[in-house]
Amino acid sequence: MKAAPEAQKRLLDLAELDAGLDRLRHRRRTLPELAEIDDLSKNLARAATEAIAAETEAGDLAREQTKAEADVDAVRLRADRDQKRLDSGQVTSPKDLASLQSEIASLQRRQGDLEEVVLEIMERREAADARVETVKGRRDEVAATLAVAEGRRDAAFAEIDKEAAELQGRRPAITADIPDDLLALYGKLREQSGVGAAMLHGGRCLGCRTSLSIADLNRIRAAAHDEVVRCEECRRILVRTAESGL
Ligand SMILES: [Zn+2]
Repeated sequence: MKAAPEAQKRLLDLAELDAGLDRLRHRRRTLPELAEIDDLSKNLARAATEAIAAETEAGDLAREQTKAEADVDAVRLRADRDQKRLDSGQVTSPKDLASLQSEIASLQRRQGDLEEVVLEIMERREAADARVETVKGRRDEVAATLAVAEGRRDAAFAEIDKEAAELQGRRPAITADIPDDLLALYGKLREQSGVGAAMLHGGRCLGCRTSLSIADLNRIRAAAHDEVVRCEECRRILVRTAESGL
């Protein structure tokens, strides 16, 4: 392949610009915020699940309390009704009176037991409600930290994308100076190894950092200036400049 030496030198400008684009892509992929956001998202999912579990438990206890309070009310109503019958004087037989009094006493004991149950549920419910607040607080804290990290990530993305757009914008002015076949070869090599062209500097290929053999240097020395030469080691296009050491 042949190309004017000036066009070949433009490949170095293009390679530098493309390396800049690669660095930006790498920075975008490896932003520390990405790992942070991943961790925080997992923490948030866990905290949200815990919050739901705590709310479910508190809800269950609230229903349990309502039911226990209804039990207390039912027993109290029965005791009140018995007490009224006793106070009405309608029950006169000593046996019935004794039975009624015994039932009232039994209902009062039962009411006391049920009130103990209500108190015990209320205590558990208080603890459950406190736990709901704690867990929801932790969840909201994680969500806020996540939002901040996402904001930092988006700001970094915007900055990187702006720089990349700037570089991309400069690319056409460079590629316009390079013939299509040379550009296609550069593109193919770039796909294969990441870098399509490198400078021959002081007898070394700056693409793979290999010092060329005397034979290779002699071969390149003998090649016409418009001949496109390649590194024998990495196959990249070797661009000759005044610093090539030829
Ligand atoms: Zn090389």
